[in-house]
Amino acid sequence: MPNAPIFILIEPQMGENIGASARAMLNCGITELRIVNPRDGWPSEKAHAMSSGALDIMPPVQIFENVKDAIRDCHTVYSTAALPRTMVKPVMTPRAAVRDMVEHAQNHEKIAVLFGRERSGLSNEEIALSHALISIPVNPEFSSLNLAQAALLIGYEWRMMADQTPPVDIPMGKSFPATQKDFDDVMTRLENELTQHGFFRVDEMKDLMKQNIRNMFMRAQPTDQEIKTFHGIITALLGKKLK
Ligand code: SAH
Repeated sequence: MPNAPIFILIEPQMGENIGASARAMLNCGITELRIVNPRDGWPSEKAHAMSSGALDIMPPVQIFENVKDAIRDCHTVYSTAALPRTMVKPVMTPRAAVRDMVEHAQNHEKIAVLFGRERSGLSNEEIALSHALISIPVNPEFSSLNLAQAALLIGYEWRMMADQTPPVDIPMGKSFPATQKDFDDVMTRLENELTQHGFFRVDEMKDLMKQNIRNMFMRAQPTDQEIKTFHGIITALLGKKLK
C-alpha cells in the first residue's frame, strides 16, 4: 500500500474524540496522528480509553503548537469541512481526494489531512494552508459529522482505494470459468444418463427437476477443469473405464 496520509487534529476539545479518531485511523491502517494544541493536554486518559488500544499500537502521537509546524514536512495537505467555504480551493469528495492522495503518495510525498475543532471546525486561515478541501457529502441540511466519524469516512475511502485487493477474489490457478457450451454439454449428458437410469420417475416433474439440478451447478460456476472432472465422475459412475 502507498504511504498512508498523516491525520492532524487541530485543537480537538474532547479526549474521547481523539481516542475514537485514533481507533478509526488504525482500523483503516493509518497510523500517524498529530495534534495541534489539544484543549485538555496530552497524554489524555479519556483518549486512551476510547482508542481501544489503538494509541498503544500506533507510533506516539506528535504534539504541535501550531498548524504550520505540524505540516512543515508535508508535501500535500488537505483540509476538511462540512460546508465548502467561499474560497478558491478545489472541494473534493473523499473518493476524489483519496484518488489524488494515492497519486501523490506513489510519488513518495508526505500527505496530511487536517481536521477541525468540534465546535468551530477549521478557520479560513487554516483551510488556506491546504491544497484542497474535502467535504463529505452527507445530508446538506445536517452535514456536520462527529470528528472521529469524519476521520473514519476519509480513512475508509483511503483504504478502499489504496488496498488493491479485489472485493471478491477466487484464486483460480491455471483454470478458467467454463464456457456456457461446456456447462450445457455436461448438464445435458447428466440429464440423459439420469433419464436412462430411471431417475426421473414422475414425468411432470422432469423439467422442474432438470432446472433445479442446473441451478445448483450454475451457482457453483464451475471452471473448465471442474467440468472435465464432472465428466470423469459420470463416466466412472457408469462403470466405464476412464481414458
Ligand atoms: N461546526 C463545525 C463542525 C466541526 S465538526 C463546522 O461547521 O465546521 C469537526 C470536524 O469534523 C470538522 O472540522 C471537520 O474536520 C470534520 N467534519 C465534520 N463533518 C464533516 C463533513 N461533512 N465533511 C468533511 N469533514 C467533516
